[in-house]
Amino acid sequence: MEARAPRNTPPCSSTGEVLLSSLLKCPKCAQGMTTGSGNGNGGTYHYYACSARSRKGETACEGYRVPMEELNQFVIERLQSDLFSVAKIPELLEPMKERQAQGKDDIAKRLADREAEVLAAKQSRENLYAMVTSNLVHPSDADFSRRFKQAEKQCQRAQKERDQVAAEVAPDARITHDKISNFVSTMQSALSQETIAVKRSDLQSIIERIDLGDEAIHIRGQRADIERAISSDKVVPSKVRTFVREWRRDRVWPRTLPTH
Ligand SMILES: [Zn+2]
Repeated sequence: MEARAPRNTPPCSSTGEVLLSSLLKCPKCAQGMTTGSGNGNGGTYHYYACSARSRKGETACEGYRVPMEELNQFVIERLQSDLFSVAKIPELLEPMKERQAQGKDDIAKRLADREAEVLAAKQSRENLYAMVTSNLVHPSDADFSRRFKQAEKQCQRAQKERDQVAAEVAPDARITHDKISNFVSTMQSALSQETIAVKRSDLQSIIERIDLGDEAIHIRGQRADIERAISSDKVVPSKVRTFVREWRRDRVWPRTLPTH
């Protein structure tokens, strides 16, 4: 008998080292997907499969499975060529910029309102301080301490809201070409890593969901997540918009596996 070298390293599904299962939904029943393996002509093969079908049997779902390595490779290649590039990222973020430009006057007014609230909150806190320095109240007084904590909280909240609006005023200043270029090379190098853990954690920070279908695959995420990752800004924009990238399924992989 001849010893054969494995053609590629099998994914270690037993240790959870699987790239996409947490992002996949079964197209038949919308439940999550799990992993499995079987034996075919070419040796052991691995696949993603409907988890409802695996756990509860055929009454739960008619079943769906897709070859693991092919799907992993497909998703990574598509993301590398069609999403993480210095040309595609500005295109992807364009709708956010348009919205921000349209709402510039609106934002200026909201910013002024927020700024007024910050000042009012600070003033209330100052007034409470003044009561202590004028010996009108002792700082250990329970009622005073409650009111002071409230004023402090209100100050922090007002400042946070003001900062969120301020972050929307000049998106261009935060998303420079240099920053996009850094982001793109970080993602590209993460996706070329051998280890699944690195790829997976970077994918999960950007991609929300991958919808498999008979006709096409949709990869979904939030523009705001990409914008935030690029600008390294911790402020979450108040409105989020979803992006979807669609790839026709017929170019993906041969349908050699049964779809149960
Ligand atoms: Zn299912």
